[in-house]
Amino acid sequence: MAGEELEKEKRKKETKELEKKLKFQGKLSWDLLDEQEKEETFRFAEGYKTFLNRAKTEREAVREIAQAAKEAGFQEASSPEAGKRFFAVNKDKSIALALIGQASLAEGLRIIVSHIDSPRIDLKQNPLYEDADMALLRTHYYGGIKKYQWVTIPLSLHGLIVKADGSILNVVLGEDEADPVFVINDLLPHLSGKIQDQKKLAEAIEGERLTALAGSIPFPDTEAKERFKLRMMELLHHKYGLVEEDFISAELELVPAMKARDVGFDCSLIGSYGQDDRASVYTSLQTVLSITEPPRTAIVLFVDKEEIGSDGSTGAKSLFLESVLRTLIKRSGLTATEALLKQILANSQALSADVQAALDPNYPEVHEKQNAGKLGYGVCLEKSTGSRGKAAASDARAEYVGEIRRIFNANNVAWQMTELGKVDEGGGGTVAKYLAIYGMDIIDCGVPVLSMHSPFEVTSKADIFEAYKAYRAFLNSP
Ligand code: MN
Ligand code: MN
Repeated sequence: MAGEELEKEKRKKETKELEKKLKFQGKLSWDLLDEQEKEETFRFAEGYKTFLNRAKTEREAVREIAQAAKEAGFQEASSPEAGKRFFAVNKDKSIALALIGQASLAEGLRIIVSHIDSPRIDLKQNPLYEDADMALLRTHYYGGIKKYQWVTIPLSLHGLIVKADGSILNVVLGEDEADPVFVINDLLPHLSGKIQDQKKLAEAIEGERLTALAGSIPFPDTEAKERFKLRMMELLHHKYGLVEEDFISAELELVPAMKARDVGFDCSLIGSYGQDDRASVYTSLQTVLSITEPPRTAIVLFVDKEEIGSDGSTGAKSLFLESVLRTLIKRSGLTATEALLKQILANSQALSADVQAALDPNYPEVHEKQNAGKLGYGVCLEKSTGSRGKAAASDARAEYVGEIRRIFNANNVAWQMTELGKVDEGGGGTVAKYLAIYGMDIIDCGVPVLSMHSPFEVTSKADIFEAYKAYRAFLNSP
């Protein structure tokens, strides 16, 4: 009997060992961290939350990144003192940090690219009007939003106004506790039965109804026309020297006025606006700031306009990367010929640092669990994006996936291989394909996010820290 039991135990042990050896199993990051690493994970999240609060728009992100770069000893690219670590700003809306490495430039770069724009509500160029004895602002949303999520929440106004004389007024209104905020009102349930509740969710709130409340005190002269609008303009003129035409040359963005917060009893999660894609921005920024001379030359790029297709002079489709690389080549004492530029780019390896959808416990049916990103399981790799049969995807080749896998495993990075939703459920793209044009290897790599594109997106602190570890391992690899 005892011998039989012993035999049974032995078989059980062997099966377990075989499973461990052969089966692929994701690892929950929290299970891997010791007490000190847990502490580090939580500490890192504090810096991240501060960044989220300070950099709610692409311009603010550029300012924060440039400031952090300067403090870490990076020089402006144009400065004659710029040495092996410098940064370049493109029209205040995208920025790149460059680090000259040990290997020859011709061997190619290591590139990490993330985006600093997030879905939001832009003011129209002629926004101010009045109705029902209220001053209101007309808007045009930016990026893929579910409109119902953006009504009845406090919104702050960020951006800039270029006045007639060319002077610039920077605007941040609604972040300070003492500031007023803005709000897009919504219909009460008592009256929404016919006009909203019977409609499809996507159609229940129309874009033109996303107007923001801006005031309710009239101009004192009861004979005046449009008294509420006039009073608002008088106020803006008195306070900021503005006239209505100044809105024409303004970029004003309404974003959630809420601050980043810990979520859950254990404070293990972070809730905040803009984590797509500041989760990648902050982690890749901290990575590049912490390195002095990597094995290979590195560019960490932060681009604008991803949420609306990466077009425009500050998006990933612009030639900003090439311009930064030209500077790099010159700084390395070489001549920036077209041939060398293209050779370097074709030999480069990149991470498209962008977030992934996290498996949502309320809607498991849109995910295919075996290949879904899960909160707490570390940084998500995504071999291909796109939709309907991988259309428009940048599909990383297996050899490159293998290399990234080796790098992450060698550096104890918690990672998971993921796809965005079930086949034919939907889909989406990233900037990966715009860099892949050069012939470089590139793969999507970022943290999983719940409620993506909402005013309060949720991530895991463990994943944020694993992303930092992943990007650091990538840049530190030969
Ligand atoms: Mn994104
Ligand atoms: Mn997005």
